Formats: sequence, C-alpha cells, structure tokens
Amino acid sequence: MCAASAFVGYSYYENQLLADTTTHLLEHYNSNYVIQNLQGTVVNTWVSWNLIQGQTLHVSIVNDANLPEDKITAIKDAILSNGTITVDDSLLHEGPQGTSSTRYKGWEGALANLQSLPTKFYIPQSFAISEGSNGAGDVVITLTNDENPDGLSGYTKSISDGNQILKSKITIYQSSQLSAMQLGAITRHEFGHALGLAHSTDPSDLMHATIRTDYPYISGCDIDAIKGLYSGDERSQVMCQ
Ligand SMILES: [Zn+2]
Repeated sequence: MCAASAFVGYSYYENQLLADTTTHLLEHYNSNYVIQNLQGTVVNTWVSWNLIQGQTLHVSIVNDANLPEDKITAIKDAILSNGTITVDDSLLHEGPQGTSSTRYKGWEGALANLQSLPTKFYIPQSFAISEGSNGAGDVVITLTNDENPDGLSGYTKSISDGNQILKSKITIYQSSQLSAMQLGAITRHEFGHALGLAHSTDPSDLMHATIRTDYPYISGCDIDAIKGLYSGDERSQVMCQ
C-alpha cells in the first residue's frame, strides 16, 4: 500500500516536471547560426545559394532521435507547405485593428510568388526532402536528443566559399521533448538561416534569435530579406518596419 502510494506521488511529480519543461520550450526557443569558410574559419558576411535557374535544393533529414512520422511530417511541412494563415495585425502591434497580413507555413509556399522576380541570384524555390543517415544533401537537418551546451534549441552551420553557400547543417536539440508544432517552428526558423538569413531585430518575427511569437510563420519581412539578399543587397539581416 505504502509503496504504491509513494509511486503514484512520484509519477505525479515527474509529470509536473515534464509539463514545466514543455511550457518553457513552447514559449522560448533559442537559436544561433554560424558561417564558416572552407578553411573552417568563422566568417561574418552575407551568403546566399548560387543555384542555376530552376535547380532543386536537396534537403536530408537525419532522424537520430527516432521521432515518429507525424513529427517528421511537421518538419517537412515547414519547408514544403503552401499553406498560409491570416494574422490580425493589431494582435502583433503591427497595424491598426481590422488590418491583417498573410504568413506562410512553409518556405516553398512563401518563395513560390517570387518566381517572376528578376534577381541577381536564383532564389531557391524547389525543395526535395529525403530521409537518410549519410549526411548527403545541400541542407542536412539532424534531429538529436543531445542537449546543446548553450541551451539552444536550433543551430545552423553553413559552409561557404566566398559569398556562396555550399552546404548548411541544421541541428535540432532535445528533439523528443518537442511537439510537432514546436519542431515545425524551429525548422522554419533554422531553414531561414540555411537560405542565408540572419536574425531579425523584431521580437515578434520568426527570425528573431529567440523564437517567442505565437505566430512562428514566415512573414513579409522575412520574404523581403530573401528578395534583397538574392538581389545583391549585401545584407542578410531581417528588418521589419
Ligand atoms: Zn536563429
């Protein structure tokens, strides 16, 4: 009897701890990114892909955390979805009541409208995702249960030659503790880095260094930053007006 009630008490405590951790991760995920040249030296510059017109960017998912299929689907959707949501601007303090703006759930949908835009560099618009463990692909997303020593949820390392990205490696930490929605938000943010974006100064933007918005979707200013970067602006910062 005694042992049984002690056990019940213990599992209740465990559940509480888990709930606290989950809430924390839902509110804040920290991200960082780094760009290294071929010599492995960190470089502080703008970078972009230099694809030929129509070229597909190959993305591979390395599921070291053995995440179930629904979570992998959420990660894929953050890249491939054409879905949008409409956000009331007044909720984000970005406009008067009654005005709204469109946010994109996936990068392929967000960038599809830029097809006709003449840019200096071709904006990646077509993504192919495969699952594998050999690290092949232009962008490799590794899902791990490791904890990042700096408390990051996501980290992107891009290897560049001059201002051209050769490969981007995204790591998502403590993946098993994240919900499908959280994994989607972090993937959307890190994939922005993989495309060449730096952080945004706007705390309510997807590309802020700490993702804390209730609407972690691709915004007009994220898209404008991509347009600028691939048009030859030597700037990767996301500026929201
Ligand atoms: Zn980041």
